[in-house]
Amino acid sequence: AKERGRSTYQFFDKAMNAQAFEHLLLENSLRHALDRGEFELHYQPQVATQSGEIVGVEALIRWRHPELGLLSPAKFIPLAEQNGLIVAIGSWVLEEACRQGRAWLDAGLGLQHIAVNLSARQFASGDLLDTVDAALLDSQLPAAMLELEITESTIMQNPQEAAVLLQRLRERGVVLSIDDFGTGHSSLVSLKQYPLDSLKIDRGFVQGLPNDEDDQAITETIIAIARKMRLKVVAEGVETPEQLAYLRDAGCELAQGYLLGRPQPAYVLQSLLQRREPG
Ligand code: C2E
Ligand code: CA
Ligand code: CA
Ligand code: CA
Repeated sequence: AKERGRSTYQFFDKAMNAQAFEHLLLENSLRHALDRGEFELHYQPQVATQSGEIVGVEALIRWRHPELGLLSPAKFIPLAEQNGLIVAIGSWVLEEACRQGRAWLDAGLGLQHIAVNLSARQFASGDLLDTVDAALLDSQLPAAMLELEITESTIMQNPQEAAVLLQRLRERGVVLSIDDFGTGHSSLVSLKQYPLDSLKIDRGFVQGLPNDEDDQAITETIIAIARKMRLKVVAEGVETPEQLAYLRDAGCELAQGYLLGRPQPAYVLQSLLQRREPG
């Protein structure tokens, strides 16, 4: 038994080392990833539940790592949050998304908006407004086409400053959206105090539809609140036709999820958008 205990311990220790090593490796290569142009944005369609039309897209970052292949944000965003690189990465995301949005606008693809995720650190960095202004100016994307997705917890990390910042963004005409709505603890407070345009129903609630009664109650309540407050509402993580039908019948305007399209590189999204244009 003693023998076994020790080898288990050694195995655990080795696994820890491997993890620490991977962490170190990633952190080092993350520092150069921006300069080396290794990030890319994939775009997931947001679809009108009534017409089936693609009305917008959400930009989601990917890292094309030279050795490890295509990495999802879960692999490196937390790391970038820790070491502060997220601020530079986030600026790149804003610039790139605005540039792409403008290109699609010029190509006549009729998108209403392009949504970008903001991290807490980026939100607190003090130069978010300058970054947004520069991205809009350089790209000449109309501010009303840029949607910023912010979580409740980001707002709650500094509620007073958030109020000012959101107000300044609103003055520029940027669209403001609460991501993962309902997973924070302050949902209703934030709705009342902040100038918002849109709510995203978290995938966790959509998963249980159409049968789970709690998820039905939560989803319908969010939709009702959004209606009363004249906010747009987007359901995330829609994977089945039954979920989509439920949401449409419940009055949810927009849906996003694997059923309607996975996040894809810009050229794939573009061909989807072009196909829908008549002629
Ligand atoms: P999020 O903002 O909640 O984005 C939605 C995530 O759900 C995306 O994962 C998307 O690919 C995934 N998803 C979409 N539809 C479905 C579905 O039907 N089923 C399931 N199971 N998943 C679905 P992704 O791209 O891996 O991004 C994960 C998170 O990383 C995002 O969550 C967001 O918080 C963060 N993130 C992504 N891009 C950026 C970025 O540019 N900046 C920052 N700060 N965070 C980002
Ligand atoms: Ca999001
Ligand atoms: Ca979300
Ligand atoms: Ca989520």
